Amino acid sequence: MSAVKCSKCDSGFALPSNPMDLKSNWICNQSDCEEEMAHTKVIDIVRDCESILKDAHDFDVGQNESVLDLLLTKLHPNHSLSTDHLFL
Ligand SMILES: [Zn+2]
Repeated sequence: MSAVKCSKCDSGFALPSNPMDLKSNWICNQSDCEEEMAHTKVIDIVRDCESILKDAHDFDVGQNESVLDLLLTKLHPNHSLSTDHLFL
């Protein structure tokens, strides 16, 4: 699972329109939204999150919780980045 939060609606997650091709457009899973995102936008979001995580190494527990909250505004809770972070 590597879905990212839809950039348009609050409850949707974007997934590749072609699961075999991560470079296809990513489409929101909410049928009333169906926002399409270019894969380059998804890469930007994941890179953002990676740099947030890199900066987070020296944070204390309270700060880590807010980092996780921040990641969950961008990623699906089962995204490998956010689950890795949970088990740091
Ligand atoms: Zn959406």
